[in-house]
Amino acid sequence: MQQLIVSIHPDLVEPASTRSIEGTLDITSYHVGGMDMQTPDGIHYQLQLTNTGEGVVLSGEASCNATTSCARCLAPANVEVTGAVEGYYLLEPTEDIDGYEDDEFEVIDAEGSFDIAPAIVAALVYATPYVVLCKEDCAGLCPQCGADLNEGPCSCDQEDEVDPLNPFAVLKDLKLEDE
Ligand SMILES: [Zn+2]
Ligand SMILES: [Zn+2]
Repeated sequence: MQQLIVSIHPDLVEPASTRSIEGTLDITSYHVGGMDMQTPDGIHYQLQLTNTGEGVVLSGEASCNATTSCARCLAPANVEVTGAVEGYYLLEPTEDIDGYEDDEFEVIDAEGSFDIAPAIVAALVYATPYVVLCKEDCAGLCPQCGADLNEGPCSCDQEDEVDPLNPFAVLKDLKLEDE
């Protein structure tokens, strides 16, 4: 996977020092659950790094224009994804951070370098909607014949469909339990 290595040198060595960075990460896809998100324009990031003395805190925003398959009709579907980036990178492995083991954190290496690409991608994964549609009212595919109902009704039996002019029509089939 594409990395984005940053170094604490020269301007992040001192506690309380900060650095702002902005750019585009050349990652052209990521995955969320079963969804394959294509990001041909890469992932834009606007971040701040702060040296807290014991480590470096990463914060900011990542965004991309992603294309995937519509959850209903499988046509290409576009979604703008913007997520909050969060990361913490330990400057030196120490044994006495209360309650934490070192392996719960990313550790900055001896040269002062660390990779923030995973935190950027994680922000997008977290912010990606579970269901992406080609359009809000996508009609989807007919479950019987597979026809794209956005292009018009198919010839399958539609008698189970609820009358859109009378959505309560379906209630006439419900049997009310005796109280
Ligand atoms: Zn669709
Ligand atoms: Zn059909």
